[in-house]
Amino acid sequence: MTPRHWIPLLVVAALLLSSGTLAGQRQTMEKPLNPYYSRTDIHKLNLPDAVWKKVLSPEVYAVARKKGTEEAFSGKFWDYTGKGTYYCAACGNALFRSDAKFASTCGWPSFFEVVRKGSVLYLPDHSYGMDRTEVQCGRCGAHLGHLFDDGPPPTGKRFCMNSIVLDFEPDKPESKAKR
Ligand SMILES: [Zn+2]
Repeated sequence: MTPRHWIPLLVVAALLLSSGTLAGQRQTMEKPLNPYYSRTDIHKLNLPDAVWKKVLSPEVYAVARKKGTEEAFSGKFWDYTGKGTYYCAACGNALFRSDAKFASTCGWPSFFEVVRKGSVLYLPDHSYGMDRTEVQCGRCGAHLGHLFDDGPPPTGKRFCMNSIVLDFEPDKPESKAKR
């Protein structure tokens, strides 16, 4: 084979390589990179809506920033019983422990208390002709759901959350081994 014959082969190889790279980029674009997500940084985030639109998936954005509500019994956590911690899917702020989750019949993941004071913010919500308390993430202000007074003891509260704005991290295996 003369060097002249190598050229078409090189072109084919280059095309194959570049198509592989493109496929990789497409995968990354499905889940946007969110530089504001942190499980350790507790500094408050005050970002314009346009930034959130760029760094959140459309599904998370619709609930977190546009106060959407997912359909009852549709989310991934409403009947989930795994042991671990729930974080804000928009910014990584710790919100709830699985110990505070209870089997609610409402169709949304429900908790009777937050993981620490300041984890969430409470705001009056009079939309849809109702008197409700909106629950937002204490770090980034993402809409999470609502708070009701019909929860179980010891608090009597029901934090009625949307699964899509929650990230779950299971407890480490060593705590499992103790059981
Ligand atoms: Zn957040």
